[in-house]
Amino acid sequence: MRKDASSRPPYESDEYLRLRRRNMLLCAGGLLLSGASHQLTLGRVIPEVFAVHAAWSASFVALGLAVAARWVPSRMTGAIAALISLSALMLDIRFTGGLASPFFPGLYAVPLIVAVFTPGRREPTLVACALTLVSLLLTCWWSGATLQATLAQVFSFAFVAWVSAYGGRTFRRLRDAEREADRERVEALQRLAESERLRSQSERNRAEMERLAVMGKLAAGVAHEVNNPLAFVKSNLGFLEEELGEPAPDVEELRRVLEETRQGVMRIQQIVADLRRFSRDTAESDERCAVGDAVDEAQRLASVRLRSLGEVMVDVAPNLPLVRISQRHLVQVLVNLLLNAADALDTAEPRRPARIVVSAAATEAGVKMEVEDNGPGIPESVLPRLFEPFFTTKPPGKGTGLGLALCREYVARAGGTLAAENRPEGGARFTLCLPGAVVHRQR
Ligand code: ADP
Repeated sequence: MRKDASSRPPYESDEYLRLRRRNMLLCAGGLLLSGASHQLTLGRVIPEVFAVHAAWSASFVALGLAVAARWVPSRMTGAIAALISLSALMLDIRFTGGLASPFFPGLYAVPLIVAVFTPGRREPTLVACALTLVSLLLTCWWSGATLQATLAQVFSFAFVAWVSAYGGRTFRRLRDAEREADRERVEALQRLAESERLRSQSERNRAEMERLAVMGKLAAGVAHEVNNPLAFVKSNLGFLEEELGEPAPDVEELRRVLEETRQGVMRIQQIVADLRRFSRDTAESDERCAVGDAVDEAQRLASVRLRSLGEVMVDVAPNLPLVRISQRHLVQVLVNLLLNAADALDTAEPRRPARIVVSAAATEAGVKMEVEDNGPGIPESVLPRLFEPFFTTKPPGKGTGLGLALCREYVARAGGTLAAENRPEGGARFTLCLPGAVVHRQR
């Protein structure tokens, strides 16, 4: 069965096999040259040596082609090439003077060459060492070397064999250490990605919790705010029914009552739409917003809680630049500040009508907004901890301590600042500075 290219190990890839074939062909050329150069340096022609080199070179060409055509497994190439080379070297040595042959030192190089070309595995080097040792002993025997001379050769060879094995082992250890470091790096990156995922999830949960808390604070007011227009819509409908039963109904009066009823229904629709938008868990892609729109929306939302406490005055300068924050986040910040002011005024002693002022004016960098109240102000001991997550002075169930921390986070993310102080005349003041948004003009 043919293997799919992507599932092959790297040493069987087409590119690797082509490289192998090229190396084998280069070696074949080198062998032919070395055969010829030895004849030249010896100063005489030894036809057997030439024939050995020609056969050696031809078998390398054949091996290269066979490997590239996948007839021979590529992992066997080293062992086959070593076997051919050892046999050829033996013949060379035999035809050129045994131990005194200029080819004899080449025998020592065989395990080194195999170790260099197959550093990833131990077996080829060990097999090459064993075969070379056998060849060395055979050469000594053919050459009539004494036992002492043979032992000297064996010891020298043992050193070369050790260097080959040691070099291969060092390479493998380095490779394994590198692989281990790679694996650890990948694991560390995975852990980092996971902790980043958990962090952003907990951030989302925190924002969701705070939004739900704000919704909870608004809920009671919503019932009241919806009930009011509902009551007069209901009584207006009763009036219209009665009027239509009259023989000559006052059309002007009917129009006025109808318009009033329509206003009431629209007020309810507006409250429901604002609440739905506020409670929706969606990220806004537009990071620009008009301050006036955000103030209107926040005021409408907070009015369900503030209306019974007193007045909210809005002083937004005309023609303000767009600011670099999503409307959803700016509304959330303003609603938080307004509801905090309401909470503060609720606990103020002596009781007083609320007077909350929301103002906005242009600055060089963008827009500066202020939310001021005439409540009791922020105690000095509370001021330094005001923006800490989970810091609250409210009883359980009334405060989460997340409101101001999230407000500051949203504002800081937009490149702005949020600060709190007490007004000299009493009450708290929150100052919000937001950078202007870069407006991309359409061509
Ligand atoms: P929470 O409203 O859930 O307590 P916040 O982070 O919004 O959490 O507020 C933290 C604390 O800051 C409040 O508990 C309150 O003590 C104080 N605070 C916030 N706004 C005002 C204000 N306008 N006047 C006085 N104190 C305030």
